[in-house]
Amino acid sequence: MTRFYPGTFNIEGVVDLTTDTAKEVITKKNQFGNYEIRMESIGGQGANLAGKILADAAIMDMGLNGISFASYGSEKKGTPVRAYIRLAESDKEIRINSPVTEPHLLVVFAPVLVKSVPIMNGIKPGAQIVVNTTKSPEETRDLLKIPGGVTLYCVDAMKIAVEEKVRINTVIIGAISRAVEFLDKDALEAGIRRMFEKKYPALVEPNIKGFKRGYDEAALYEVPADDKYPISEFKQFQPKLGWKNAPIGGVIVNPGNTVLNDLTASRTGFKPVWDESKCINCAECDTACPDQCIIFSRKTDDKGKERQFFDHIDYMHCKGCLRCVEVCPKQALTSAREAAE
Ligand code: SF4
Ligand code: SF4
Repeated sequence: MTRFYPGTFNIEGVVDLTTDTAKEVITKKNQFGNYEIRMESIGGQGANLAGKILADAAIMDMGLNGISFASYGSEKKGTPVRAYIRLAESDKEIRINSPVTEPHLLVVFAPVLVKSVPIMNGIKPGAQIVVNTTKSPEETRDLLKIPGGVTLYCVDAMKIAVEEKVRINTVIIGAISRAVEFLDKDALEAGIRRMFEKKYPALVEPNIKGFKRGYDEAALYEVPADDKYPISEFKQFQPKLGWKNAPIGGVIVNPGNTVLNDLTASRTGFKPVWDESKCINCAECDTACPDQCIIFSRKTDDKGKERQFFDHIDYMHCKGCLRCVEVCPKQALTSAREAAE
């Protein structure tokens, strides 16, 4: 359903003059008159698209002004991605295009990011946080070190996404719709439809279902206003080496070695799990893996001979294609549901 809000342009560009232009839609704003959202995710999870859907719905169906943009490194998949959304009333232009430092709403697609990225920076009491997690709200607070006085919404978006055969981004938009009072549920649903119906019509209904479940299954928790975890100011991530100080002619001898390139949360919901007792060390899985994630090591066998043995799976770089599971002749590799953490 398309809704037209007071004093705004409708989709055909016609001003609705029958309504009161002074009525405001956005309930929380900063000193610049903007409502701000920051999404913390890993490349491949669809945070950038989620931001676009949100801004599009706010503009097209709610008559607000909005912008959405993202920042990520050159290796997009598997690296941290931040998406930013700013919304303002229809009569207020958005002139700021810098990263969102003190969001009204923080959205955490992958809590695993807390190991490498300061995702809580800039979160102040009164903010809202939506987290994709299998953990309880109390455990989530401790994992992410969430300061007091924040409203937390936890949703197992990965579980819903696997069950509905969609990505987690539309499920998370459902949870956002639940958290942010002024974001109209029908408008966001219309935004999701618009995004998928032309190119991928078969994906519209599963994504709408995922969106509705995200809305219904998000669990609300008011974090007590205590000082268990301190408030930290926002700092832009700065790598130690950049174009100014990297050694001239420096060579990366170990490919795929960036500490931030963690594909853990960008898999599609399943990962391979190894059962040592069934493994015959045939290395079929190693041959099939496109990313060299099956790690063998040299050990001595029962007869005292040195041989290569299956050692472990490199989950940091495993993309969850499950080719290794398909080729294993002994079912020593099986697929298991991924936890978000
Ligand atoms: S394919 Fe299966 S049996 Fe062979 S090494 Fe891999 S896990 Fe072990
Ligand atoms: S799931 Fe794919 S990427 Fe991961 S270890 Fe198996 S074959 Fe390699």
